[in-house]
Amino acid sequence: MALYRDEGVVLRVQKLGEADRIVTVLTRTHGRVRAVAKGVRRTRSRFGASVEPFSHVDLQLWEGKGGLDVVTQADSLMSYGRDLVGDYGRYTAGTAVLETAERLTAEEREPSLRLFLLVVGALRALVGGGRDDVPARDPGLVLDAFLLRAMTVAGYAPALEDCARCGATGPHRAFSVPAGGTVCAACRPAGAASPAPAALGLMVDLLEGSWEPAEASEPRTRREASGLVAAHLQWHLERGLRSLPLVERT
Ligand SMILES: [Zn+2]
Repeated sequence: MALYRDEGVVLRVQKLGEADRIVTVLTRTHGRVRAVAKGVRRTRSRFGASVEPFSHVDLQLWEGKGGLDVVTQADSLMSYGRDLVGDYGRYTAGTAVLETAERLTAEEREPSLRLFLLVVGALRALVGGGRDDVPARDPGLVLDAFLLRAMTVAGYAPALEDCARCGATGPHRAFSVPAGGTVCAACRPAGAASPAPAALGLMVDLLEGSWEPAEASEPRTRREASGLVAAHLQWHLERGLRSLPLVERT
């Protein structure tokens, strides 16, 4: 057993008996870890409210057997949950950020610094205002920017300009999720969508962090871009899940 220290964002908290909790944390240097936090519900718990979803915490952990560590100390660095819980749009966007971060880290303890930084950046942009000197962004745009960047980090970036199949220089009119994004007329598979160029442009802006044009976009453009982002993510996550039972049986 080894003691280690890391900072992380709490993704999920599950009950374990009367007083204990299992926390899932995306850490800066150890990737996603699961750990037991004992006595969280006791009034004078050492952890207090620091081990709640959306909390950015500094942790000290014992490395346990079987993938379950033990939290020995937890200090809150920033608690985003309090600011998110009163705003339905921001809270649901934040919840989607945490869930996606967990789903995209298929393996525990696989370092994913870039994803950790994206999660912290998304939570800061959702809370915004006086905290961290970050302006509060539209929650839908923050979520889509996070999803596009997180998919890029995970290796699932959709093609948004050149053809996903043959690499022909874009822009192209057709978008196919199974093909991997925009496709040229020659490669266009049956069932490909023909999104408005503005929707693809918005996705490029969100990926690159060009907030000024992104925030000037029309609601219908945002809806269309959100639909493409969600479909692309869903397709990759479902494929990930489908492959999992095969791996476990062999
Ligand atoms: Zn092509």
